[in-house]
Amino acid sequence: MQLTPEQRQEIETARSRPTETLRPTVPALEALLFQPLPVLDHGFVRVIDYLGDDAAVVQAARVSYGRGTKRVSEDAGLIRYLMRHRHSTPFEMCEIKYHVKLPIFVARQWIRHRTANVNEYSARYSVLDREFYIPAPEHLAAQSATNRQGRGAALGGDEAERVLGLLRDDASRCYDDYAWMLNEDQPDPARSGLARELARMNLTLNTYTQWYWKTDLHNLLGFLSLRADAHAQHEIRVYAEAMLGTLQAWVPITHAAFLDYRLGAITLSAPMLDAVRRMLAGETVDQASSKLSKREWGELTAALRMD
Ligand SMILES: Cc1cc2nc3c(=O)[nH]c(=O)nc-3n(C[C@H](O)[C@H](O)[C@H](O)COP(=O)(O)OP(=O)(O)OC[C@H]3O[C@@H](n4cnc5c(N)ncnc54)[C@H](O)[C@@H]3O)c2cc1C
Repeated sequence: MQLTPEQRQEIETARSRPTETLRPTVPALEALLFQPLPVLDHGFVRVIDYLGDDAAVVQAARVSYGRGTKRVSEDAGLIRYLMRHRHSTPFEMCEIKYHVKLPIFVARQWIRHRTANVNEYSARYSVLDREFYIPAPEHLAAQSATNRQGRGAALGGDEAERVLGLLRDDASRCYDDYAWMLNEDQPDPARSGLARELARMNLTLNTYTQWYWKTDLHNLLGFLSLRADAHAQHEIRVYAEAMLGTLQAWVPITHAAFLDYRLGAITLSAPMLDAVRRMLAGETVDQASSKLSKREWGELTAALRMD
């Protein structure tokens, strides 16, 4: 992750001007505010602003006149109850705004989460940086044989080297052609140069883009439950993992409840529950007698660590 000296200076300046406020603030998140947390080779996620804290969830749930908090243990109990029973609107009272730098193919997955406010860097207005995501060798994997949406073992030897070379060379060549078509850097006076909004279509999907992304705590948890999950693609999961760290700093009680009741939990279907009950009663249950599909049975046995 490379920041220019000017960008670093802007962050320093923003961090050097504390202001007094009556609004609740969270010291652990204030410590992270504006600081880029590196993700992938050139990406980052940084918290730009936030509204509310754990107490704001409690305050909204109790529709209270003051801060709404009682003893910490009672507040934690209430937040855990809300999380367990999917009582979502108190969590919508808190908001957070991130600045994210991410490869375009990751952005395409991310943007599917519609319950956020987004403003992306304009490649019609500005020239994109010459920065491409190139996977670390251990993440350069083959197509999974068992999961059409996943990857298997890492490529090795000559094939890995050749793939890395192609990713680097193709991205560089396309970017060089982009720069040539723009005709902006050391311009050739004999050429007009292609408009930025057209020249960008030649760029590869591993080129980095940036956006501001604002969402409420409820929808952030929805995003994290899908994207910090083992089924999510590695390249978006690492962003979600960095954001989990900011969640922990911001709303530690909600974070702990989220790990217990969402991220680390599974939902059992009625037939799954029936199979578990029969096993607990001492019956030997296999896939055929469980009446679960092969896939569901695999998910159940993996969750119960029986495989
Ligand atoms: C592992 C994985 C694989 C995926 N594969 C594919 C794929 O192959 N192809 C593909 O297209 N997508 C794919 N997706 C994207 C997925 O289908 C969702 O679009 C994405 O995860 C956003 O989820 P969401 O709708 O819950 O989030 P949000 O858009 O943030 O919505 C949150 C909730 O708000 C409500 N909501 C928001 N907007 C509307 C609306 N317009 N109408 C009604 N309700 C609304 C819904 O209740 C929704 O659940 C994949 C996602 C994951 C995690």
